[in-house]
Amino acid sequence: MSEKIGFVSLGCPKNQVDGERMLAQLEDAGMEIVDALIDGADAVIVNTCGFIDSAKQESIDAVLEMAQLKAEGKIRKIIVVGCMAQKYHQEILEQLPEADAVAGLGAAGDIAQLVRDTLTGAASDASTDADESPEALPLTGKRLLTTPAHWAYLKIADGCSNRCAYCSIPSIRGDFRSVPMEDVLSEALDLVEGGARELILIAQDTTSYGLDLYGELRLPELLREMCKIDDLRRLRLLYCYPDRVTPELLSVMAEEPKILHYMDLPLQHISDPVLGRMNRRGTSADLRRVLSEIRAALPDIALRTTFITGLPGESNDDFEELHRFIKEQKFARLGVFAYSPQEGTPAAEMPDQIPAELAEERLDILMRTQNDIARVNAEALVGTVLEVVCEDYDGYTDMNIGRAYLDAPEIDACVYFSGAAEDGQYYSVKILGVSDDGYDLIGKRT
Ligand code: SF4
Repeated sequence: MSEKIGFVSLGCPKNQVDGERMLAQLEDAGMEIVDALIDGADAVIVNTCGFIDSAKQESIDAVLEMAQLKAEGKIRKIIVVGCMAQKYHQEILEQLPEADAVAGLGAAGDIAQLVRDTLTGAASDASTDADESPEALPLTGKRLLTTPAHWAYLKIADGCSNRCAYCSIPSIRGDFRSVPMEDVLSEALDLVEGGARELILIAQDTTSYGLDLYGELRLPELLREMCKIDDLRRLRLLYCYPDRVTPELLSVMAEEPKILHYMDLPLQHISDPVLGRMNRRGTSADLRRVLSEIRAALPDIALRTTFITGLPGESNDDFEELHRFIKEQKFARLGVFAYSPQEGTPAAEMPDQIPAELAEERLDILMRTQNDIARVNAEALVGTVLEVVCEDYDGYTDMNIGRAYLDAPEIDACVYFSGAAEDGQYYSVKILGVSDDGYDLIGKRT
């Protein structure tokens, strides 16, 4: 009888893709993937996130939830993998004794063996080696998709060679490593042939694509090549770094109709002293210049960005400058994180740490401002016709739920629309109104 394996994946889409590779290996090894909460699994794998405190807590809670099932005799073994396991291997072994095996990113290379070793009690220190380097993480390989059939993430690189002072990702995932272009293109083709008509390019820094392997930025070329895939309809770019948004990249985005006029461009702050302490490349003036260039090249661009409030030393003036900038730029989408010190990062050692409550207060102020901006942005779209992909049907409103180019799945808003529609199909939708919260659009098929 085949082993029943439950899988819980937390964190960002990069981690999700790693999880999908692990799922494919488990299936190829003849194991059965089951719902850990319902079916009673032989082993449950928790693919953890180690990004910020709240993400780590979520990962710990997931392990504890599985520990409860184990105590009740509903599951047999717990295996902890992913970013948090990479960084806090020893701590997890000591503080979460319910975990039967703890392995870093390299576990994604042969997860089936780790499962078998754990089930037979043979998971040795060697198979859960704390010193395994992040480079052991496989960047290619078969995946069992966990997203709806009509779209998929495509990871074009892993690791990060930027050294933002607040971020622990480089210490967890290692230096930036691009996936060779032929491998990206072949995976893209497989995904499209499997039914994914929207591909979402991800990496810790997508705009650095190629620099390590080819000695130059090759994202524009990669995009052009991907656009040649016949049945691909939409390409979406996440996680861009401002100073690598080149004129060439903007030209490709303007010329290739398959590339959505959407860009996720985390700016993190706008005040020069804070940007300096963050060790971000580029000044406030540079960032403003990049934004103007993007808007000039792509007037209908939907820009998503993120900011951090409460970095050590962020003064009231720094914060007010950021607040003014948000009012001025009217970003289509905006996320804000309250800073929390990450062990081993330069920012954690900086003087003038800001109380967590103040960082949260500042976050709330920015999000309240953004709520008003989002409503105005949404109202400006009333009367327009957008191409929307149907994602689901909402019985409560008796409407379809879809996404326009403005909406990346799982993070942005959506378009509720009436008229017959099938999941995964594209429709022209006339926008008639805006939801009560000011974020979602409401329309009908034309
Ligand atoms: S660009 Fe900066 S914030 Fe993003 S993963 Fe790299 S170091 Fe972290």
